[in-house]
Amino acid sequence: MVDESSKTLYEILECDVDDTLETIKENYRRLAVLHHPDKCSDSKRFVAVDKAWKVLRDPQLRRDYDAQLMSETAAHEPLLFATVTKEDMEECGDEFSYGCKCGGEYIMSKSELTIHTDPSNNDSRFFVECTDCSLCICVICSCT
Ligand SMILES: [Zn+2]
Repeated sequence: MVDESSKTLYEILECDVDDTLETIKENYRRLAVLHHPDKCSDSKRFVAVDKAWKVLRDPQLRRDYDAQLMSETAAHEPLLFATVTKEDMEECGDEFSYGCKCGGEYIMSKSELTIHTDPSNNDSRFFVECTDCSLCICVICSCT
């Protein structure tokens, strides 16, 4: 059995993050009937469905929950804009830069590159964050 506590509220209500309130409400009604304590011995499902609906039906609570969900997802996997090598980046003085789609830049100093380049590993990678948004690029450093 799947652990209910690891599911998102959207998963509990069997809908998607961008579903409308109407769709979520329909799912809630269907699931509430299905798991109603009068019909089903597993009241935990009903409580979870009811709790999820109480958050998602409220636009403010739903926004807060969406923001929390986004930050959790972002913490697990960095949003990767591109995977590049040093040659893809623009050399300027002691820095290498790469343009982001948001207009910002990914900037890496030459000393940083040296630190991250492992001579025993021809395929060392590291991440550089955009100056303006939350995306990052993966830079592959080879010493050849
Ligand atoms: Zn950016």
